Amino acid sequence: MDLLGATGGPVRIAGRELPRGELLGWASAVAHEIRGADAVAVHATASVETVAAVVGGVLAGVPVVPLPPDSGPAERAHILGDSGARLLLAGSDAEPLDGEPPLIPVDSLPRNGSAQDDAPADATALILYTSGTTGAPKGVLVSRSAIAAGLDALAEAWAWTPDDVLVHGLPLFHVHGLVLGVLGALRVGSPLVHTGRPKPELYAKAAQDDRGSLFFGVPTVWSRTAADPSAAEALRGARLLVSGSAPLPVPVFERLSELTGHRPVERYGMTETLITLSARAAGDRRPGYVGTPLPGVETRLAAEDGSPVPPDGETPGELHVRAPLLFKGYLNRPEATAESFTQDGWFRTGDIATIGPDGWHRIVGRASTDLIKSGGYRIGAGEIENALLAHPAVREAAVVGTPHDDLGEQVTAYVVADGVGGKQLIDFVAERLSAHKRPRVVHLVGALPRNAMGKVVKTRLPGITP
Ligand code: ATP
Ligand code: MG
Repeated sequence: MDLLGATGGPVRIAGRELPRGELLGWASAVAHEIRGADAVAVHATASVETVAAVVGGVLAGVPVVPLPPDSGPAERAHILGDSGARLLLAGSDAEPLDGEPPLIPVDSLPRNGSAQDDAPADATALILYTSGTTGAPKGVLVSRSAIAAGLDALAEAWAWTPDDVLVHGLPLFHVHGLVLGVLGALRVGSPLVHTGRPKPELYAKAAQDDRGSLFFGVPTVWSRTAADPSAAEALRGARLLVSGSAPLPVPVFERLSELTGHRPVERYGMTETLITLSARAAGDRRPGYVGTPLPGVETRLAAEDGSPVPPDGETPGELHVRAPLLFKGYLNRPEATAESFTQDGWFRTGDIATIGPDGWHRIVGRASTDLIKSGGYRIGAGEIENALLAHPAVREAAVVGTPHDDLGEQVTAYVVADGVGGKQLIDFVAERLSAHKRPRVVHLVGALPRNAMGKVVKTRLPGITP
């Protein structure tokens, strides 16, 4: 099967441009070097070398394992050891650490090969490690057919065509930056402008100089854009601003809409399910909601005992997914794979959601860290975080449940704010939400712990034990 189109616009990363023909020639040479390997690791810097290496893996039918370039030796060793990759593709400036596989310098390979893409649809294209938000990153086996199904569904939902110019600056070792942000552009055929880093001023420049039309970001990118009116203003000529990977706070949605004239499209997905839910380019967008299932995706909600939860827009339950874009399993973790599926074959996301009668989904949070059980209530952290963020002095907020003798758990907030006290914030929330949702404890902190995807790692908050 052809995963990527033979024609399409160029890829430009941090100022270096690679036309499609040259990319395919270069990737073919990579494919020639690695053909027959079990898996190949790629030192996934934001560079054209990374794109050539990944596409080389695709052409050779060899699973690609993207290594986060800034990860420490322990994380690299975990990923390399777990994945069993015995080859490492990188730019010639990279150096393997002790005990790492020999390095194949991608930039020294010729750019005029001609390989055919004839790997079967069910072959593993990528072994992607999860973001590690709730524990050690897990290796997720992603097949070529899942990628194709996910990208085609997205192209339809976002009316994404070769006429778009995709702009983003996300890391190239997770689903968002790599599958949507690189393979998406290559499959659809649109040019890609990767800004090196996901910064509002770089997005603004790409909007103006490169006529960027489709912009991808994680919520931290959009909240920084919403705080930078001149960068936001530059996005007025864009076609679609998309947010994913973590919840987009409602105040950010609103401010961004005001400044750019675009209501952002929010979408939800995970390494295991690629992209699952999204608002549509041609349809409604609702702050606080992640849209409806993409074509080919089915969802349902289940209670803790597995019984069905009605799609009434109010009752939360664990989100289950059935779709052709699902992963094949976790690498080396047959038990975790088995546990993540129900007996009737649905994938259990571990996220708590509500589904309205109109099919619109709201993500309440993760069952493990965002669902607070306090005094007999089940409280979603996100609603309280949004209430805190509505205060003009609050820049960031994370809410968790901490042990409490009487209540089981108490609502505890960690807040980054200027010139406001904990008591004022508690009162502020109390005016907006019912009494049991009011934080009992507010910690004012300098910053929230975040991972490479900009997600808050709640298990690393001070005083929280994983
Ligand atoms: P780990 O599985 O290692 O703990 P992770 O779950 O953060 O890390 P990813 O697969 O990158 O790793 O992220 C998927 C998760 O991100 C989802 O399960 C969900 O909790 C969250 N997420 C993604 N998009 C959204 C969104 N639009 N709104 C809310 N949460 C989202
Ligand atoms: Mg996860």
